Amino acid sequence: MTDAEKVFACKYEGRLALATRLVRARVSKGTLVCSSWVTEVDFRPRYNGPIFDAHSHVVDEEHIDLLVRIGEDYGVEKSLLIVHGDVGIESYEERYPDRFIFAKYFSGWMLFGEGLDEAVPEIHSMREEGYQVAKVHFAPFWSDRLSEVKNIPPLDSKEFNPFFEALADEEIPVLIHVSDPDTYYESRYDNEAVYGTKDEHLMELERRLERTPDVTFQVAHFGAQPEVHRLENLARLFDNYPNLNVDTGSARWMVRELGRDPETARRFVTRYSERILFGSDCVARSNDISYYEGRYKSERMLWESDVRDVPLPFVDADTVDSGGTFINGLNLDDEVLEKLYWKNALRIHM
Ligand SMILES: [Zn+2]
Repeated sequence: MTDAEKVFACKYEGRLALATRLVRARVSKGTLVCSSWVTEVDFRPRYNGPIFDAHSHVVDEEHIDLLVRIGEDYGVEKSLLIVHGDVGIESYEERYPDRFIFAKYFSGWMLFGEGLDEAVPEIHSMREEGYQVAKVHFAPFWSDRLSEVKNIPPLDSKEFNPFFEALADEEIPVLIHVSDPDTYYESRYDNEAVYGTKDEHLMELERRLERTPDVTFQVAHFGAQPEVHRLENLARLFDNYPNLNVDTGSARWMVRELGRDPETARRFVTRYSERILFGSDCVARSNDISYYEGRYKSERMLWESDVRDVPLPFVDADTVDSGGTFINGLNLDDEVLEKLYWKNALRIHM
């Protein structure tokens, strides 16, 4: 053990038992801060059924095999795959017949830069091309990236009506990313004049749900509201908008926020278990096995286990300076797991 590890061991005695290796530690404002862990945790999954990963991406074709193989190690039998770039879906379908349903990616450049004249016809040809879901990305950072192009209208603005009307006509569900973690608004989006506020962005989502009742929404990342203080608002949205569903993409965001109060989170997920789809948000663009394993393993621990204070097996950039992110399991019932992992995605996407 190095000196830094010894100090750390004293401070986090209980937690260290679960960590096999402290990769990096540093001193910040006079206290020692863990910045990177590798953990080896004895996790035996409780759920033995099939898993549908309703949120995954492919960026580099060459890494699709790794995403599939590691997914299978963790029970994934089907995935919703968001396809980036111009390669189309043929090679994935040939290689893995019936393994994927495909989402077409409408980037901010297309929606906000080129305008809807390009995007709307693409919705009408999606089914022919083999896509079943439209993926759109309304993260606040587009305000920054596209400020020279034009001001981005809010999600609920009339300008986007033709896009959502086309989705309704074609009966195509939308997987939409709106807003971002609270932690981003405290750091990278702290200039409200450029980015707006999180509450504004969630309000725009609500008005879009209201305006487009005939489109099925899968709002990524727990509707951007896994923060425990936001669950009440998310419950209200579920109660008022039957077209709303969410996925659990981003293991670190879910683990960090829902794990803060596992009892409250457990009650919430149980109550709305028809509306929540398991998703890893894994992106096939890396040949690092631990990247995929870390996401699948930590999410499954979050949903299935009752562990406490287990270090997340990869770095969470949002807590790297404040002591790290720890897994606190929700220990969901088997029937809830079955819906979250499999049945809900089948109902919505198959
Ligand atoms: Zn994603």
